[in-house]
Amino acid sequence: PVGLIWFRRDLRLADNAALYHAAQHCKTLYCVFVFDDSILTALPHADRRIEFICQSVTELDEAIRHAADRPQAGLITRRGLPQEIIPALASQLGAGAVFCNDDDEPAALARDAQVARSLKAEGRVLLRSKDHRIFARDEVLTQSLSPFSVFTPYKNAWLKKVTPFYLSSYPSERDLPAKLADRPEADRQRMPTAVELGFAPDTLQGLRLPTGESGARQLLADFLPRLPQYKAARDFPALKGPSYLSVHLRFGTVSIRELARLAHEAAHHSDGSDAGREGAATWLSELIWRDFYFQILAHHPHVIERSFKPAYDVIEWDTGAEADALFTAWCEGRTGYPLVDAAMRQINTSGYMHNRLRMVVASFLVKDLGIDWRRGEAYFAEKLNDFDLAANNGGWQWAASTGCDAQPWFRIFNPITQSEKFDADGKFIARYVPEVAQLPAKLRHAPWLAKPLDLLKAGIALGSSYPYPIVDHAVAREKTLARYGILKKDS
Ligand code: FAD
Repeated sequence: PVGLIWFRRDLRLADNAALYHAAQHCKTLYCVFVFDDSILTALPHADRRIEFICQSVTELDEAIRHAADRPQAGLITRRGLPQEIIPALASQLGAGAVFCNDDDEPAALARDAQVARSLKAEGRVLLRSKDHRIFARDEVLTQSLSPFSVFTPYKNAWLKKVTPFYLSSYPSERDLPAKLADRPEADRQRMPTAVELGFAPDTLQGLRLPTGESGARQLLADFLPRLPQYKAARDFPALKGPSYLSVHLRFGTVSIRELARLAHEAAHHSDGSDAGREGAATWLSELIWRDFYFQILAHHPHVIERSFKPAYDVIEWDTGAEADALFTAWCEGRTGYPLVDAAMRQINTSGYMHNRLRMVVASFLVKDLGIDWRRGEAYFAEKLNDFDLAANNGGWQWAASTGCDAQPWFRIFNPITQSEKFDADGKFIARYVPEVAQLPAKLRHAPWLAKPLDLLKAGIALGSSYPYPIVDHAVAREKTLARYGILKKDS
């Protein structure tokens, strides 16, 4: 039998579930990646993710040709709507089955259902494998078989259920080489670049963001020796604490099984140090958050539009010209709160933002500026290299207190104390907000509180070289408590 492997958010050959199953069932295999117009047309002209995908797809194509040891083999790429392209290509190649890895985002489910229907009409099948998370939506449930909505019990159940079976890698590259077919002549061209797809060039230049499976390997090799420091370092944006692997998890250039296995083994390593075990257990916990939000989205797709907790839909956010101006200042890193501004400039210039800062700026937008969390969520969705609907929505609803297991609404981050605690030396601020870098570190958190002489010495003219704070946190806090006050304190 002939099979077609449809790559989507799994741009790798190693430990790839769909690839493994395809190689088990078929004698001849083709590989395809579709540049999906329904996604591409909604993106801005300069989008780093397109370049990331193009470079990763190029590496995948090379890896396929290398595995087959024939240049005629390799990846077929098409541009258009997968609903039309995949059935037509399967028919052209005589593939009885199309293999892919699953995706629980509602738009992806609808797309796959349509592809499956068209294939079925011609006697073909779409076979989906679980690949980008450890547990699928219904694999970790409460004792009464309902989905979890609180993280800690979910995590405990996750840890109880996990066995080497769930964490071991698929030997997906083992049987592949002998089965890879030559591409049709017309499909042997090189992979398209971002420019050829109509996007701006060089969006990743200068970012030190290695792409493809090799890029993920490089970041992982760099991170593993730092794992023992993860717990202590992960909250401080000026430190190289986290793994920076999120974009690779997003596009599947690394396997979640491999990462979770490494973390799980290190967390239980009897010869390791306490720090080693703790660092690994903390990191594993973050990977479990990822699974947690996937299953929240899968079970509660209403979160895309509304609050996880319906009672919170009554909250009224500020709108109008003044709110729009505050939102723009937030987007552009001009709030006058240096840590918030540094964070927003980090996302704007690199497409990455440190996790602690995502919490700080999300809280600031919602609870200091009174702006609907959905506007911030949409901004992140446009800017983040690692944008993932489930994690992004979960993070925003957590910060806005509207989500499952969220920050209680009356707990409001103070942007100054967050800054003093997590960027005590003002190093991160200095990196992204050079306007205040000449101030002594302890004054960088709230420059408007500095003495005029200190401001003068640092070359700062508040209101012209750097803004005054756009809101007074103490006043905003009271307004927010009143805004959420229509809810009962325990809701
Ligand atoms: P590490 O600390 O090395 O963590 C390892 C991996 O665990 C991450 O790559 C990620 O896949 C996962 N992870 C870590 N924290 C979380 C979390 N809270 N929720 C879900 N998964 C997590 N993460 C995204 O991948 N995409 C998003 O669009 C996204 N949006 C967010 C929005 C807000 C408002 C908040 C508060 C968090 C968001 N996160 C998102 C979660 C988290 O901030 C990032 O996963 C993390 O900063 C990525 O950096 P890293 O790979 O270096 O993380």
